[in-house]
Amino acid sequence: MRLKGICFLLAVFLAAFNLSAGAAAKNEITSIRWSVQDNSSDGSRVVRIVVDVKSPVKVSSAYDDSKKTLTVDISGALPGGNTGKLPIKTDKIKQVTGQKMSSAGSRLIISLASSLPKDAYKVFVLKNDPANKKPDRVVIDIFERLPQPAGASAGLKGKVVLVDPGHGGSDPGAVGLNGTKEKDFTLKLSLKLRDALVKEGAKVVMTRTRDIDVHSSNATAKDELQARVDIGIKAKADIFVSVHSNASVKREQGGLSTYYYAKTHSDALLAESVQNSLTRGFALDNKGVRQADFYVTKRSPMPAILLEIAFISNPAEEKLLNSNWFQNKVVACIVQGISDYFNKNSGGGEKK
Ligand SMILES: [Zn+2]
Repeated sequence: MRLKGICFLLAVFLAAFNLSAGAAAKNEITSIRWSVQDNSSDGSRVVRIVVDVKSPVKVSSAYDDSKKTLTVDISGALPGGNTGKLPIKTDKIKQVTGQKMSSAGSRLIISLASSLPKDAYKVFVLKNDPANKKPDRVVIDIFERLPQPAGASAGLKGKVVLVDPGHGGSDPGAVGLNGTKEKDFTLKLSLKLRDALVKEGAKVVMTRTRDIDVHSSNATAKDELQARVDIGIKAKADIFVSVHSNASVKREQGGLSTYYYAKTHSDALLAESVQNSLTRGFALDNKGVRQADFYVTKRSPMPAILLEIAFISNPAEEKLLNSNWFQNKVVACIVQGISDYFNKNSGGGEKK
């Protein structure tokens, strides 16, 4: 277990055990301590129960999903006086009961509020450490929240992301050979992107959530694009992400590219993070990070990118654009890329 970056939610609780004077020779449990630890670097939360014993013990554990109990047997040490209900309670742990076993052993029965997956607990012994005045002890770690995959989510908490589905309403954008309209793809993908970002703790503002012109159906192109920029400004967005798909007269053209306008170094960083994540995820042609004079990326004051996700003019990629599998994976890659950007750029999360 990593202790770096941990903040203690609750003060360590010490349950003192009544030790009878004559018990010195016997191996006994001397105390049971517990704490709840939040690890900010990976989002995990661990409840740690430490059972101090006078001399070495053996430990075994068994989890029963039908009863939602984790049983920990400590052989070689008696409970030391206190049995019954112990004062340990968390969101996940309903109750802990101590029992004396028939042989020289103790049992802890940990009743849980919900199922405990195999990778969500650890039971192990630690040898005494006289230098640090630590006795032999049994450690029970129970994850109330499992660690998040590296790099995910930490950077997105509380960030405001403007998501702009390209085109819409009177403007279909590019149209594929099989009739797919860019405006429909960008809206579908952007709604999924919104949901995924919200799930990671970001606040998302959309320029549109329906098939409409953002300004009005007879607006000039400039007014339509400025209306999108204005929404980002009003929302005080941290970043602006415009979703498009590419088109070319050459049907065989395909691939992924991310455009930015170099207002600050952050524009390029954001573009690189998202493009790298997308090209790691797909075997499509990497058309790279590109600078361009696009209205929304140039006029949005915050770091802004315009994604060209595959080519709607390429029949194979048009098919991809309509597949749920492809859309979901694109969304996951964009979310990871944005998260990487915030982790790198704003110190939003510690990287291991
Ligand atoms: Zn477009």
